[in-house]
Amino acid sequence: VETDSEYTFRHKDLTSKLADPNRLRSKPDVKDLKFGKFFTDHMFKVFYHKQLGGWQKPIIIPFENISLHPAAKVLHYAIELFEGLKAYRGVDGKIRIFRPDLNMNRMNKSAYNSGLPTFDGYELIKCLNRLIQVDQEWVPHGEGSSLYIRPTLIGIDGTLGVAQSDSALLYTILCPVGEYFQGTTGTISLLADPRYTRAWPGGCGDQKMGSNYGPTFRVQRIATTKGRQQVLWLYGPDHQITEVGTMNIFMFYVGDDGEKVLATPPLNGLILPGVTRQSIIQLCEQWKEFRVEQRDITMNDVIKLKKKLELLEIFGSGTAAIISPVCSIEYLGELIEVPTTGHPFPLYKKIKDHLAAIQYGHIEHPWAQAI
Ligand code: PMP
Repeated sequence: VETDSEYTFRHKDLTSKLADPNRLRSKPDVKDLKFGKFFTDHMFKVFYHKQLGGWQKPIIIPFENISLHPAAKVLHYAIELFEGLKAYRGVDGKIRIFRPDLNMNRMNKSAYNSGLPTFDGYELIKCLNRLIQVDQEWVPHGEGSSLYIRPTLIGIDGTLGVAQSDSALLYTILCPVGEYFQGTTGTISLLADPRYTRAWPGGCGDQKMGSNYGPTFRVQRIATTKGRQQVLWLYGPDHQITEVGTMNIFMFYVGDDGEKVLATPPLNGLILPGVTRQSIIQLCEQWKEFRVEQRDITMNDVIKLKKKLELLEIFGSGTAAIISPVCSIEYLGELIEVPTTGHPFPLYKKIKDHLAAIQYGHIEHPWAQAI
């Protein structure tokens, strides 16, 4: 029988040590909010020590550096995973957090697959709500801006054995963030090069582990050098499109029967199960204005649709930018223009506006939970 602390930490055990009021940091102007650059005054922390019975008592403390043994497993074997979700200040002044239960499920899956301890996601949500309340003045005002929440779990055993970590630290930091693509039209141009792969069957590309991200920066640099903002990750001999940068991908087009279709690759192990992706699928299925399909999409499909003038839109989806319209794809030496923003009422905009209406409390919706 597992004891409580082997199974989870509890919000009822949460204690807070608040920062000295004269050590509080000044808040940056919304227009200067570069993604992930500024942090709030407090953080959340809870340790796990197998020898001490498992999860310890959670705490909220002033934001501080963390101190690790130089042999800590996270630093050598990348035993690390994280999440990314957002809280929004609504038109009514209430702060709402978007679908945190989905992030908790995904975090627990990543933890299980990293040999790190799992926990009751609702207990972490309640602790995060408290942390956001403590730092509520940091939640920016104005639509387009939000508070980015970064729960992180690391293996901290100070031993070099290539083995699972018996101790761990779960912490969460918060960043006020502005519109992801400030002052630009927000369209992105992609590099699709079949020589590079982000994820593969039987791998861990569908988990939010830090080890999936470090190796992508070389390819990202190649894309940047070519004037492309993001990498379109391909997979397999038929050059399936899987994800764009750190976003899921959607394609909107006219199907063979003349009906419009919104397609996105299925959760086949190569795709991170994005919260935004799932929300878009659910919304569009409810709208019933066009077909929604989870299916493999190849570069050949894109090229054929483009030739027949049946390719309407391609866009990425993720918590950071919500929706990023794609304007072109560089593939095997050719630049394929995508007319995503060239329509009077583009679908990507309708989805983005609808999600914003939920997130900023224009529409009361169970996905946006007041803290
Ligand atoms: N794919 C990858 C590789 C990601 O890192 C992210 C960001 N979490 C996403 C897709 C989008 O997921 P979400 O909508 O949950 O932010």
